[in-house]
Amino acid sequence: MQERTLARNAVDGAILFFIYSQALSWANNNCDNVLNVYCFDPREITAGTYKYDFPKCGIHRLKFLIETVICLKTLLEEKGSNLFVQREIPEIVILNLVQKFKQHYSITIIFHQEVTREETDVEAAIRKVAIEHKVNVKEFWGLTLFHPNDLPYTSPKFFPDVYTTFRTMLETKNIRVRKLIDCSQQLKPLPDNIEILQVPNLSDFGHSVAEIHAKTVFPFSGGETSALNRLQSYVWTKDLVQSYKKTRNSLVNVDHTTKFSAWLSNGSLSPRKIYFEIKRYEKECGINDAGYWIIFEIIWRDFFRFIATKYGNRIFYPSGLSNKKYVWKQDVNLFEKWRTGHTGCPFVDANMREMLLTGWQSNRGRQNVASYLTKDLQLDWQYGAEWFESILIDYDVCSNYGNWIYQAGVGNDPREYRHFNMIKQAFDYDPEGEFVRTWIPELAKLPNDLIHTPWLASSIELKQANVELGVTYPRPIMIVPQWNNRVRSNVNYICFIILG
Ligand SMILES: Cc1cc2nc3c(=O)[nH]c(=O)nc-3n(C[C@H](O)[C@H](O)[C@H](O)COP(=O)(O)OP(=O)(O)OC[C@H]3O[C@@H](n4cnc5c(N)ncnc54)[C@H](O)[C@@H]3O)c2cc1C
Repeated sequence: MQERTLARNAVDGAILFFIYSQALSWANNNCDNVLNVYCFDPREITAGTYKYDFPKCGIHRLKFLIETVICLKTLLEEKGSNLFVQREIPEIVILNLVQKFKQHYSITIIFHQEVTREETDVEAAIRKVAIEHKVNVKEFWGLTLFHPNDLPYTSPKFFPDVYTTFRTMLETKNIRVRKLIDCSQQLKPLPDNIEILQVPNLSDFGHSVAEIHAKTVFPFSGGETSALNRLQSYVWTKDLVQSYKKTRNSLVNVDHTTKFSAWLSNGSLSPRKIYFEIKRYEKECGINDAGYWIIFEIIWRDFFRFIATKYGNRIFYPSGLSNKKYVWKQDVNLFEKWRTGHTGCPFVDANMREMLLTGWQSNRGRQNVASYLTKDLQLDWQYGAEWFESILIDYDVCSNYGNWIYQAGVGNDPREYRHFNMIKQAFDYDPEGEFVRTWIPELAKLPNDLIHTPWLASSIELKQANVELGVTYPRPIMIVPQWNNRVRSNVNYICFIILG
C-alpha cells in the first residue's frame, strides 16, 4: 500500500518513503532514524471516479484501509517506531517534512514504484519536491511475485500480450521468485519533534460505522496481522491448498478461495510470502505442485500489472488495447438496474447485491456480471470498472482495469468473442440456487429448476413461492435467446427484449 515513510540518518539526514519491507529494511540499515508516513490522499478517498464520479473509495474498502493503517501503526510501535498519518496529498506532506528537517539533515525520499497514471503523477510530484530541495530519492519495485528485472524482456514493450505466453515463459525459463526480506528487527527511532496523530476513523470521512454483513464471505479485517492469520489458517490449519482447484469457482464459501486479494491489493500481504508458504507446504507434505493453481492465479495479477506498465493509459481507454473504435451504449437507467441488482436475472442480481452490501464478489461472479453488462446490455465497460473501483474491498487498479478490458473484449483475451450464458453459468455454479437464495430472499421459495429463471414459472408456481414478478422481484430487462437452451425442457420460450 502507499504508506509513505520518512527516515532520518543521524549523520546525514532524513528519508521519506512508502513502506514495504524492502524500503523499510533499506532505511533501517542505512539510517539512524526513520519516519514512516501514511497519507490518506483525498484524491484516492473522497474524490469521484474519473468518468462517472462514483465515490472513489467505498465504505467497505475505507474501513479495511483504516484497519490496515491502525495495524501498521501498531506493528511499527512494537518495533520501536511509529507512523506519521496525515489526511493530505503526499506531495504536500512530503514538502512540509522536507522543509522542516532539511536544515538539520540531508534527506532521502524512498518509495515503491507504481505503474498507473494517478500514482505515477504522485511519484513525479514527489521527485520534483526532491529536486527542488536537493534531497535524494530511492525507489523500489515490490508489488509483484516476479521482479521485472528477472524477466527476459529488455523493455516493457516486449512483454507478451497473452497470459499463457507469459506463464509458459516463466515455467520454461524457470524464472525464480526473489527471496523475502526479513524485517523483524527493532526499527530505528523517529526523528525528534514529530507529532504523531491518531489514525482517522470512518466518521472523520463522513461515514457511519460499516457493519460487516452477516452473510459476507469476506469476514476479515485489514492489516498484516489479519493477512498472516488468514495465510496460516488457509495453508496450514485448514489445509485448503490442495482443494483450491476444485473449489475455486465457488460463490458461497469463505474457504473456497484464498481471499488474499484485499491484503495483496493494499500491500499488507506479499505475493512472495504466499509463494514461499505454499512451497514450504508442498515440501513438508511431499506433494509437488499442490499449490500450482493458486500461484497460477497470482501470476494473473503480475500479468495485469506488467500489461499496465506496457500500455499505460490505454487500459483505461474505451477501446482498451484494441485498435478498433468502440461506441459503447450509455444508459443510466439500465446501468442502475445492473448496479443495484435489479435486472431481473437472479444470477446477476445476486452477485451485484452481494457486492453492494459487502464490497466482495467472487471471481466467477465478476466475470459474469461484466459479461452481462458489456455483451448482453452492451453498456460502456467503464461504467462497470468504475463501479468496481468504488465498491470492491480488493480494488487494484491493474487487476480491475485489466480484467474489465479482458471481459469487454478489448483487452488481452486471445479468444475473439467470449460471451457468458448467464443461465448456463447460474445452473453450473449455483445448481441448487443457494447463492441466489442468500442474496435474493424474495425468490427463496422457488424450486431449484426455476430459481434462475423466475419468468418461466407459471402463475401457480409464482403464487406458491410468494413471488409477484414486477412487484416483489423485477421482470427481466433482457432475455438472451441462448438462455433458452438452458431452461427446463417443457417450456417453449424465446425472445430478446430490453425493457428499460
Ligand atoms: C471484472 C473483474 C474485475 C476484477 N477486479 C479485481 C480487483 O480490483 N482487484 C483484484 O485483486 N482482483 C480483481 N479481479 C480478479 C479476481 O476476481 C480476484 O482477484 C479474486 O476474485 C479475489 O479472490 P481470492 O483472493 O479469493 O482469489 P483466489 O481465487 O484465491 O486467487 C488467489 C489470488 O490470485 C489473484 N487473482 C485471481 N484471479 C485473478 C484475476 N483474474 N486477475 C488478477 N489476479 C487474480 C488474486 O490476487 C487472488 O487473491 C477482477 C476480476 C474480474 C473478472
